[in-house]
Amino acid sequence: MSNKTLQLNDQLYQYLLDFSLRESATQLALRQATAKLPVAQMQIAPEQGQFMGLLVTLMGAKKTLEIGVFTGYSTLAVAQALPPEGKIVACDVSEEWTNLAKPYWEQAQVLSKIELHLAPALDTLDNLLNDKAQHESFDFAFIDADKAHYSLYYEKSLKLIRKGGLIAIDNTLWAGDVAKSEVKDASTQAIRALNEKLKHDERIMLSLVPIADGLTLALKR
Ligand code: CA
Repeated sequence: MSNKTLQLNDQLYQYLLDFSLRESATQLALRQATAKLPVAQMQIAPEQGQFMGLLVTLMGAKKTLEIGVFTGYSTLAVAQALPPEGKIVACDVSEEWTNLAKPYWEQAQVLSKIELHLAPALDTLDNLLNDKAQHESFDFAFIDADKAHYSLYYEKSLKLIRKGGLIAIDNTLWAGDVAKSEVKDASTQAIRALNEKLKHDERIMLSLVPIADGLTLALKR
């Protein structure tokens, strides 16, 4: 099969940013602050944040889930797209990283929309699932945390989102390693296993969007 997806060299990627990226001053400042961290590559790409904001707006989402906050760029991108009464249940284990996010959330006046749970995401998800009223109550979920638990995050998110709701899963192309059979580390295998499961999952409509490191969209039927 011929590859119709354009390969972006640096020049063309810069063009994409120059002519499509609409980033608030707060988003830019947060991105610059994050860039100073040794683990800065864990932040999503800005055009991906913008895309997720567009999806959330398109869906009229009011209540969303985020599994893996890091320094809060994705949270900010989604929060800005939610209506004033919108809410994000955000899960992360790092106080250090999420503390970096908070002043920027405040500056963007979205802090009140973000309910941060500093705990293992599986615990937070299980607490939500223990309350029947939370089932099928979310419009959108973004999964971008430890890859070993990706399949569990997906299954629990699928219970929490409504029919017609969307789960976006980050890093599903994993720098290309998913397609290299010689790469066998645990994270790669976990992403591969989820990708294989999703391919045949009749509970969802599926699209793997080759933006940034690969963003899988799973729409609950
Ligand atoms: Ca990621």
